[in-house]
Amino acid sequence: HDAKEEYQKSHPNSLRLHQDALEVLPGGNTRSVLHTDPFPIYMDRGEGNRLVDVDGHEYLDLIGEMTAGLCGHSNPLIQETILSTIHKTGLNLGATTAIESQFAQEICRRFPSIERVRFCNSGTEANLYALSVARQATGLSKVIVFSGGYHGGVLMFVHGVASNTVDQDDWIVGNYNDVEGVRKLISENKGKAAAVLVEGMQGAGGCIPGNPAFLHAIQTTANEAGILFILDEVMTSRLGPGGLQSRILDPIHQTALRPDMTTLGKYIAGGMTIGAFGGRKDLLSVYDPRLGLESRNGEESLQPMSHSGTFNNNTLAMSVGCATLSTVYTAQVCIDLNAMGERFRQNLLEICRGTRMTVTGVGAVCNIHFLSQIPRSDIECVEELEREQTEDTKVLGDIFWFHAIRQGFWMARRGMLALIMGTTEPELGRFLAFVKRF
Ligand code: PLP
Repeated sequence: HDAKEEYQKSHPNSLRLHQDALEVLPGGNTRSVLHTDPFPIYMDRGEGNRLVDVDGHEYLDLIGEMTAGLCGHSNPLIQETILSTIHKTGLNLGATTAIESQFAQEICRRFPSIERVRFCNSGTEANLYALSVARQATGLSKVIVFSGGYHGGVLMFVHGVASNTVDQDDWIVGNYNDVEGVRKLISENKGKAAAVLVEGMQGAGGCIPGNPAFLHAIQTTANEAGILFILDEVMTSRLGPGGLQSRILDPIHQTALRPDMTTLGKYIAGGMTIGAFGGRKDLLSVYDPRLGLESRNGEESLQPMSHSGTFNNNTLAMSVGCATLSTVYTAQVCIDLNAMGERFRQNLLEICRGTRMTVTGVGAVCNIHFLSQIPRSDIECVEELEREQTEDTKVLGDIFWFHAIRQGFWMARRGMLALIMGTTEPELGRFLAFVKRF
């Protein structure tokens, strides 16, 4: 109660803006995830890894736009690319441009399982398109997903059921990290399911890493059953130079994951609106308009599908995306940032030892949890987290967040942290010292 009162008193301008917003936006905002009780803080500006709110408080940004703000708020190379695109190219030419194939080349170079790629405007769209490719290619409609999985605003799976989705019937919801369970689901749904859609780490579900044995079991058994394996790397592709798939090695053969299709988004266009989906070239060829011609010549082939979207090749996203992958978030920057993230998480775990706080995650993306038992960090699924969450632990999480904000640390209310390029060890040290005092 005290922490909330102090928050209200020290953010009068945010409160006023929230009250105005309530008159036109239901709940006062347009992204449910950004609502915080009693009202969200309104930001005025960002620079590097700093944010300043409308009441003049400065924050170390430890969440970076839910992982999409990886390159920082004013990365000079990104700013330069935006300005030169505006000045020299212009916005949205309503025609094909060279830059979109350059961006596609960067993606195919970076993620070896992506032989062909197409762009869209969000991670949600990328998943919807990947699923439509899978349905077209297999002629089947069901999709195996996992409880705690988040694949976009209309593709979320909570407590074993599809929530917020347009069609309730097509989803088969399994348990994350349950190897035997998923083998059974796949064999039961042979001839019915078009795809398995899964995150390599459940991000919104609480940064729960996927077990290599689980993810490789999906790949092998889905492959045998003729079900397509779609890895949602919208959040996780920043965790390794070739995406998280390049880091998840088969426990026996030590080979990386190779999904049939991968979906991307968030940071890959340096902060511009983006989504992308790609994978095996035979699957993605459903978008090749020449397909229809082949089948008229008597060959057995897929019918072409249309994938149009006014902003799919918008000049800003294409040019900034290209710069992001080629020059800004290079393989070495990716390795270094994630190594720093691993050290940071280990330090946090050390501080948490013997308390009711724990941390889960991979590389530079993690989530702090408050649990009722003295917890482990090897949480396997969202149900395991929920079993140990009570009213008390929720209040503890809230108090932690209010204190973090007061000390100038910007993080997600649900405890998620995602490090931004340019963040330093001393800055993280300040946060670690705060956690220790807490
Ligand atoms: N997939 C995953 C794993 C995500 O974390 C998100 C967003 O948080 C999405 C898909 C949806 O992306 P977008 O918000 O760009 O629609």
